[in-house]
Amino acid sequence: MKIRLDRTICDGFGVCAKHAPGYFSLDDWGYASLIGDGNVAEQDRDPVMRALLDCPVHAITEVGERQTGVPNPALREDDDPASRLKTEANEAEWGFTR
Ligand code: SF4
Repeated sequence: MKIRLDRTICDGFGVCAKHAPGYFSLDDWGYASLIGDGNVAEQDRDPVMRALLDCPVHAITEVGERQTGVPNPALREDDDPASRLKTEANEAEWGFTR
């Protein structure tokens, strides 16, 4: 698990450092900083998740890939987004669904 902390959102409540003091430090005003590179050891996952879920402003997020096993058709690399544009030329295809 990897996390990131958006310090522009942090409002200095200090909940994260209380739950996972090994991963969050607070400055003199109570604003948090990540300790380390955001990688969370498996044995520390629960307290870090609690910090993530208890942060009142959602400044802590989990990053990384979630493998669903189902490719998202909207993210195909060979797909040309221009082919899905709604124009007058193809209005007969999309116009009836308005
Ligand atoms: S819990 Fe959230 S708002 Fe509070 S110090 Fe930590 S990151 Fe900032």
